[in-house]
Amino acid sequence: MRHAHLALACALALGASAATTMVLAADAMPDRRRLDADMPQLLNLYKDLHLAPELSRMEEKTSARLAAELRGLGFTVTEGIGKYFAPGYKGYGLVGVMKNGDGPTVLVRADMDALPVEEKTGLPYASTVKVRLPNGQETGVMHACGHDIHVTSLVGTARQLAALQNQWRGTLILLGQPAEETIDGAMAMVRDGLYDKVPQPDYVLALHDWSGMPAGRVGVTPGPAMAQSTQVDIRVRGVGGHGSAPQTARDPVVLAASIVMQLQTIVSRSTSPQKPAVLTIGTIHGGTKRNIIPEEVKLELNMRSYDEETRQILIAGVRRVARGAAIAMDIPEERLPEVTVLDAEFAPVVINDPKLNERVEASLRKALGAENIDHPPAVMGSEDFGRLGLDGKFPSVMFRVGAINPAAYAKATAEGRVMPSTHSPLFAPDPEPTLRTGILGMTQVVLDLMPR
Ligand SMILES: [Zn+2]
Ligand SMILES: [Zn+2]
Repeated sequence: MRHAHLALACALALGASAATTMVLAADAMPDRRRLDADMPQLLNLYKDLHLAPELSRMEEKTSARLAAELRGLGFTVTEGIGKYFAPGYKGYGLVGVMKNGDGPTVLVRADMDALPVEEKTGLPYASTVKVRLPNGQETGVMHACGHDIHVTSLVGTARQLAALQNQWRGTLILLGQPAEETIDGAMAMVRDGLYDKVPQPDYVLALHDWSGMPAGRVGVTPGPAMAQSTQVDIRVRGVGGHGSAPQTARDPVVLAASIVMQLQTIVSRSTSPQKPAVLTIGTIHGGTKRNIIPEEVKLELNMRSYDEETRQILIAGVRRVARGAAIAMDIPEERLPEVTVLDAEFAPVVINDPKLNERVEASLRKALGAENIDHPPAVMGSEDFGRLGLDGKFPSVMFRVGAINPAAYAKATAEGRVMPSTHSPLFAPDPEPTLRTGILGMTQVVLDLMPR
C-alpha cells in the first residue's frame, strides 16, 4: 500500500508519460472512471437478469446473455458445458477465455441460477416469473441468492480486464456455472471435460453477495469457510385406507410427523456439541384428499456439517430414526421407510487456501481500503465452488461482498433487527455499491495475480 502511494506520488511529480510507466511497474489498478461509465449498462444488465430468473439446470437465457457479453469483449467462448445431469441434457455452463501472453492462468466463476421463491421485495424490477416444478407445484422464481449480482460482477470485471490488457498477462478464464443451488453444477462442468476445454488454472476465484454486511464492505475467511452439504430423501410408506377407519390402515402422515420431530434429536443428542451440524427438513409432501389415508409421504432433508464423522452420524441417525419410528407404528417389514442419500448432490467443505487468501485480502485492501475488510466466521451455508478447484488441487478462494444498502443496514442494526438474508423473498441487494465493490475487488485481485 505504502509502495503504491510512493509510486503514485513520484509519478505525479514526473509528469504524465513517466506516470504511466511507474504506476504500471508498481501497481496495476482497476479503471474507476471506466467503471463509472459502464455502471448504467451494468445496472440495466442486472435488472434484466433479475426480471428473468431461471431455476437450476434451466439457465438457458442467462448463459446465452453472459456468452454474448463475453464474446463482445473479445473472449473466446465455449457454451454447453455440463451435460452430465441426464442423457440429452444440454448443460448451460460456459467459459470465456482471454489469452494475453505467457503468465498464470486464473479462473473466475459466477453462478447463474435462481430459486423457487416468490419475490416480495416490491421493487420496480421484482421478478413475476412463475414456473411449474416437475412435481406439478407452481412456484415463483427469484434471484433470491443474488446470482444476478455475480453474473453482472463478472461482466463488469470482464470489461475492466479486457480494457486493461496492457496491465496483466497470462490466461484469464471467466466461467458461468449452472445449478449451484442444486449443488451439482460445478461437478457437472468438471465431469463434462471442463479442463480438457480450458487450461488447468493456477488460481480459482469467486465472490458471493452477503446480507450480513453493508454494501461497500467485503469479507474474507481463510481456511474452512462453508460447510459440507448432504441431501437425503425419505420415502415414508404406510398402508392406505379410509380416513374414518384408521384401524384398517397404517397412516404415513402421522408416521412422517413423528419422524420429523424425532429427527430433531439427532443434532441435539447424537452429534458432538463441539462439532457444528444442521438438519433441516425442507419439504414434506403426501396425500390427495382429507378423508383418505395415503400410501406414502415424501420428506426432503438437507444436512450440513464440517467433518466426515459428523456427517456419518447424521446419515446413520436418519436411517435409525426413520426405521425405528416405522417399527413403533407397526408398519409391515416390506413397507419400512426408504432412505436415499443423493451422492450426486453432495458438496464438500469450501476451504479458502490460506496462502492465496492472504494475497486476495491484500488486493482487496488496496482496492477498497483496509477499513472495508471484515473477517466473518465460517458459516453453515454450502457451495459447490470447491469442485472447480478439484477439491483442493488448485488453490481457490471465495470472498463475500456486502449487499445491503448501508443506511438500511445501519438502521436495522441500531434497532436490533437483521436484514432479510439470501433465499428470503425479501432479499434485496443494493445493486450499484454491491456491483462496484465486487468489480473493483475482483479486478484488483486478478491484476495482482497476473502481473506484467
Ligand atoms: Zn443460495
Ligand atoms: Zn448463492
